[in-house]
Amino acid sequence: MKKSSRCVHAGSGMETHARGINTPIHTSSAFRYLDDDSQPYPRYFNTPNQAAVVEKLCQLESAEAGLLFGSGMAAISTCLLSHLSAGDHVVLQDQLYGGTFNLVMKEFERLGIDFTLAPSDAQSILTATRDNTRAIYLESPTNPLLTVVDLQRVAEGAAGRGILTLVDNTFASPINQNPRLLGIDLVLHSGTKYLAGHSDLSCGVALGSREVIDRVRASALNLGGCLNATDAYLLERSLKTLALRVLRQSDNAAQLARFLLGQEVVAAVYYPGLESHPTHGIARKQMSGYGAMLGFELKPGGVNPERFLRKLDMITPALSLGGVESTVCVPATTSHRHLSPKQRQTMGVADGLLRLSVGIEDVEDLQADILQALAG
Ligand SMILES: *Cc1c(COP(=O)(O)O)cnc(C)c1O
Repeated sequence: MKKSSRCVHAGSGMETHARGINTPIHTSSAFRYLDDDSQPYPRYFNTPNQAAVVEKLCQLESAEAGLLFGSGMAAISTCLLSHLSAGDHVVLQDQLYGGTFNLVMKEFERLGIDFTLAPSDAQSILTATRDNTRAIYLESPTNPLLTVVDLQRVAEGAAGRGILTLVDNTFASPINQNPRLLGIDLVLHSGTKYLAGHSDLSCGVALGSREVIDRVRASALNLGGCLNATDAYLLERSLKTLALRVLRQSDNAAQLARFLLGQEVVAAVYYPGLESHPTHGIARKQMSGYGAMLGFELKPGGVNPERFLRKLDMITPALSLGGVESTVCVPATTSHRHLSPKQRQTMGVADGLLRLSVGIEDVEDLQADILQALAG
């Protein structure tokens, strides 16, 4: 099966009792155990609703096994903590999702886990590894400048050294990028974003080989961040339209990127699909589509970013992303507010930078909304 078919069919349609074509929501947290040795229990990550979604996601990310969590951060923290001990070293990118950055800064130090934050390129990341490096944690494309990291190069550099490679694949989604096919061990998603896709669900997922997932599961049982049956069902329902949504969203984003490039008041556009993007070459090599996130910078002294947000009618100023509706935010006053102006400048996050999560609307309507807000 190809991806759109997998979204619809993989893991679903297993109901045999009444022959319904959808997976029923199994509300039980207790299951009679005498008849076989499966012993389902929500926190054991083995209930029928969890299994159906994991099967679908495994087929979308070329993984053997997976675990569903109650949030993206539960997936990320459980995977890292299951593989790292006091005295270990981990390399992460300096452009990290805010929650992951806080996990490292507020928990790792206390636990005695050593870390290095490296610039978002394969060479810098590999150079930062040491003899006691046990994990390399990547995000690609990054937030909010959409820098793409050469995942295959990092995977090759880590191979045979006892280093686990992890990629937060949230921004690309499984439709546009499959890190496992590039040699990465563990793929993580904040399912709250594209996988759920309707801004109404919190969930996370970790996918990898059976061996790696078994190790994560051993810690996950103790840490307890499982997903409930109703939300697992909602996620399964959402995944049936994942390819349809993401392909439309990516197409809209590509058109908006070119449209924004042509605007007088726009200083720069960051979209991996543009030839002008610094990491376009890597994106072309490792992504099948360029995604639906883009950044654009308003010229200083021109249109005021906050005023622009207030003038938008259809595009909603909101912090999350990946939903069917287009949303926008100013990283300098939201996700990157905790950094000093100097740190933001070093990272390339200007005060006039806007981050757009492009939805499935008609692109003409999105363009019209942006135009009227810029004109105001
Ligand atoms: C939102 C997000 C997360 C965290 O996911 P939650 O579901 O909010 O816990 C992690 N990584 C990226 C890239 C995200 O966008």
